Formats: sequence, C-alpha cells, structure tokens
Amino acid sequence: MDDKVKIRCPACTRIFREMSSRVRDEAQVNCSNCNKLITLTKETEDPFLRRALKAASEIRAAKDKAVYTAIYSTWHQP
Ligand SMILES: [Zn+2]
Repeated sequence: MDDKVKIRCPACTRIFREMSSRVRDEAQVNCSNCNKLITLTKETEDPFLRRALKAASEIRAAKDKAVYTAIYSTWHQP
C-alpha cells in the first residue's frame, strides 16, 4: 500500500510526497524542492493542503484497520 501523500508547496507550487504518518493537523513538513517549512492545519485556506491532510488520515485509518484485522486473525489461529 502506498502510504505517501502528495503535498503542493504553497511557496513554489511544486508537488512533493510525504509519509502519511508525518502529515497530520498542526504538523510541519519541509518542501523537498524549496525547503520551505510548511505548517499543516485543517484550518488552512489551501485546498491542496486540506486534501493532503484528508488523504493522510484515510491512509492511517486503513492501516489501523489492517493491524486490527491481523491481530484478530492471529488470536483465532489454533
Ligand atoms: Zn516549495
């Protein structure tokens, strides 16, 4: 599963990819192109950043479910 999300840098408008675990509300990431520090917040007016936060939270939810399923199936093995 691809666990990286695309982020569009508000400064240079280049798109880069960041681990979903690092993309969360109030987190900061550096643009891989211009190295600007970008603060991620749900309150942002930037639709690209909002989309990145949403995508990251969906990936984390899917991962949590996968972990739960793995543990659950282990418990039920003979
Ligand atoms: Zn940039």
